[in-house]
Amino acid sequence: MDSILLFIGFLFELQITCFIEKKMQNTILKLSDKLPLTCSRAGNCCHGNKVLLNPWELACLAAEKKISAREFRDSYTEWCGVRLLFNGAVGYNGKQACSQYAVGTGCSVHVARPLACRLFPLGRQIQNNETIYMHQGTEFPCLDGCEEVLKLPHISVAEYLTEQQTGNWELAQNAYLEAIQLLADVAFELLLDSKLAESGDKKTLQQWRLMEKETPEQLAERIGQKWLDSLTVPDLTANILKPQLFCEQHVIRLQEQMQASFGNAQTLEELHDAAVLVMALALLLSVGVGAEPELLVNHWIDIAKSNGAQE
Ligand code: SF4
Ligand code: SF4
Repeated sequence: MDSILLFIGFLFELQITCFIEKKMQNTILKLSDKLPLTCSRAGNCCHGNKVLLNPWELACLAAEKKISAREFRDSYTEWCGVRLLFNGAVGYNGKQACSQYAVGTGCSVHVARPLACRLFPLGRQIQNNETIYMHQGTEFPCLDGCEEVLKLPHISVAEYLTEQQTGNWELAQNAYLEAIQLLADVAFELLLDSKLAESGDKKTLQQWRLMEKETPEQLAERIGQKWLDSLTVPDLTANILKPQLFCEQHVIRLQEQMQASFGNAQTLEELHDAAVLVMALALLLSVGVGAEPELLVNHWIDIAKSNGAQE
């Protein structure tokens, strides 16, 4: 392989970021919909929830805590850096608080809180380039434990997004969605634009298939510590105020590392290993932005097969 180029541009459809369970029925919202979106500050949603992180969000949290991203990842996240650890004091409904929750004062990283926290109780989905906001279920989620919100001012979804300053966080999320696609493009190039698929190789798609059900830890094991660090804790704090630039620089670093590691891959084995590694990178990153690896893998395998690869 002489160079790493974009091979196939395609959009994957589903991404939800927030505490929303993906398989539940959701209520789709218009930006003008008025809802009881004034938070009672009871902190209920900071207990027993799931907050996913992209690398920029992780860097922001670390900067707010004045520690390195690596230290933050190792101390306060699980799933190898793509999910906040909820190992705080037991509180609402007997559930453990987020690692960033301080009893009595609330979120200790408020200005750097991730998009999932800014949006809650809303969720966000990107479908065919369109951003859709929603909440989980048919009943407004805060009513389960924070019924007092009904007495607080109702505001529109658009007003809520402004109030929560989601702008940069949404930009980062979008940028990382594109980054996932760029990584997948490299995996496609390694498989389809080399002699690998042509050789009748089936192992590569079989390994991609296996990855659809792998945990973040298993994906991390596939890529090894060096790639995990490059993926989750890039040293790019100089760009922290500009999420798109941060992500762009991150992708460039990853591409440079790929070029150095397997830009000259020649044998089928080398090409296979590289295509599997890059797909694992894309999938681990996809977990952090709330995409479903299973859907992505199926989608990507279908595309690979329709371009001549075999499973
Ligand atoms: S559940 Fe709703 S009202 Fe209660 S703390 Fe969370 S966002 Fe605020
Ligand atoms: S980061 Fe802050 S707002 Fe988000 S769950 Fe943790 S304590 Fe709550």
